[in-house]
Amino acid sequence: MPELYNISVIREVLKRHGFNFSKALGQNFITNPSVCSRMGELSGIDKNSGVIEIGPGIGVLSEELAKRAGKLVCIEIDKKLLPVLDETLAGYDNIKIINGDILRLDLKRLIQEEFSGKKVFVCANLPYYITSPVIMKLLEEKPGIKSITVMVQKEAARRICAEPGTREAGAISLAVRYYTKPRILFNVSRGSFLPPPSVDSSVIRLELLPAPSVTPQNEKLFFKTVKAGFSMRRKTLQNCLLAGFGLSKAETAGIISACGLGANVRAEELSLRNFCDIADKINNSKELLIQ
Ligand code: SAM
Repeated sequence: MPELYNISVIREVLKRHGFNFSKALGQNFITNPSVCSRMGELSGIDKNSGVIEIGPGIGVLSEELAKRAGKLVCIEIDKKLLPVLDETLAGYDNIKIINGDILRLDLKRLIQEEFSGKKVFVCANLPYYITSPVIMKLLEEKPGIKSITVMVQKEAARRICAEPGTREAGAISLAVRYYTKPRILFNVSRGSFLPPPSVDSSVIRLELLPAPSVTPQNEKLFFKTVKAGFSMRRKTLQNCLLAGFGLSKAETAGIISACGLGANVRAEELSLRNFCDIADKINNSKELLIQ
């Protein structure tokens, strides 16, 4: 098996297959061997695990995951990488490569068909242009994943793992805390990739909770409230809710005060519990129906 993190090996294999890196597809391949082994180790996967890897690239992380997992399914959008992966991962009989877009994939079905009876994990060096939509898909579709260990841009990692009620928190931090226990595992410098990206990265782990951390009356409305709350960063919660729900000023003021919050409170000061209370109050307020 070639050393897939060795830059000369990568260049030689890719040249032979006439492959050129696509910036648009977020193609930055890992060249630092310790990154893959640490990701594999900290992801918690073992021979009873089914693993989904998003974007295998040349297969450097895939190889590490295949050694540890019962079965690995890789989703790669770029057709040009398929013959490369056929060659680089030829020695493994527990890998299936699917050519497709992760954002269009029926995850529940894939898990049922490929991983019956196995604990399912996601481990990937994510294409950065779709970090948030991928994470939201993995959480919202509730496909039955145990944990998500992914490399993302360092800034994104801080936002995703931010504690609600802190300045860095945004709608994604709230969604992540609703479904998971998040943790930043380690940082990776930009020099650990070919080609090097313009920013450093972090590996994060999101451990799915057995049940959401709060139980809103109406989950869809809860997420609509979170989204509305963070829709205008510099505005107060009251103004954001006014715009997001078409409520009257008196109604929003009443809801905010009934939740024990100050009139000028902002979304980044709120906990999950606060958002849950506000969403429940909106839910109970007369004719408002979620569209
Ligand atoms: N795992 C490899 C590594 O770490 O060296 C490659 C990671 S690279 C950051 C991202 C990979 O995701 C690329 O192989 C790219 O082609 C693939 N990709 C980009 N968009 C995708 C999508 N929507 N669905 C599936 N794969 C995608």
